[in-house]
Amino acid sequence: MNVPRGPDRDGPWPDGSAVSVSLTFDVDAEAALLGLGLDEAKRYSAFTERRFGIARGLPRVLALLADHGIRGTFYVPGYTADRYPDDVSAIVEGGHEVAHHGYFHLPPAGLDSAGQREELERGKAALEKLTGSAPKGYRSPSWDVTEETFSLLGELGFEYDSSCMGDDRPYIETLGATSLVELPVHWSLDDFPYYSWGEASGGLMSDPRVLSAVWMSEFRVALREGGHVTYTAHPEISGRRSRFEALQSFVEGMRSTAEVWFATHGEVASLLRAQLEGTR
Ligand code: ZN
Repeated sequence: MNVPRGPDRDGPWPDGSAVSVSLTFDVDAEAALLGLGLDEAKRYSAFTERRFGIARGLPRVLALLADHGIRGTFYVPGYTADRYPDDVSAIVEGGHEVAHHGYFHLPPAGLDSAGQREELERGKAALEKLTGSAPKGYRSPSWDVTEETFSLLGELGFEYDSSCMGDDRPYIETLGATSLVELPVHWSLDDFPYYSWGEASGGLMSDPRVLSAVWMSEFRVALREGGHVTYTAHPEISGRRSRFEALQSFVEGMRSTAEVWFATHGEVASLLRAQLEGTR
């Protein structure tokens, strides 16, 4: 079989930009803990750590993007939208894209067919209620997509996915009978693994400068290739002061290095769709 991959050179990007970047934020908040089956009454402190993302992290992120005139893509679980409608509305009012990230942030691989459908339909309805339009894009919680969920994405009219890792430039991902524009992700471009220390699990608590260095390195290679990069952050993680300072510096560093087309995933998918379908 032919290996799915993107073209050797993306773009051209609008306004003569040399590289394209999508800053994406997963607004998981408490949905991810509820999805894991944790009891809020018994694990209250853990829930407040997630709530911080709405209380403080999200406003910081929105202010940063506004300062730089950047529009991002926010992957919002339906539960987050239902629980915090005013805060999620601020994302829309900032001109950003809101995309699908499940309802209770349940990874599809752990669900049966009915469960996968419920996560998709309930999450879609919650976002439609808040934003007034259907989300164009989907990102699987925990990046654990299945063939059944891909089929449902096609049935429900989604235009792109951002859950797979088969290339580091946009490409067409085919799973079963469904093909979608893929805006690929990777764990090295996600803030979570760098800061994934947990009270029960232990793990990493990286110096934020480590993440900035890796992300800048990725940016420099993408710039040489004229490519596109997706970065993933979480308001409850990168909205903390020391990490937020690193995120600010990273954005400033990119802007001082090159003309960057900062674009939402919806914009990148629209721009590249015909080109990508022609290279399959
Ligand atoms: Zn998530």
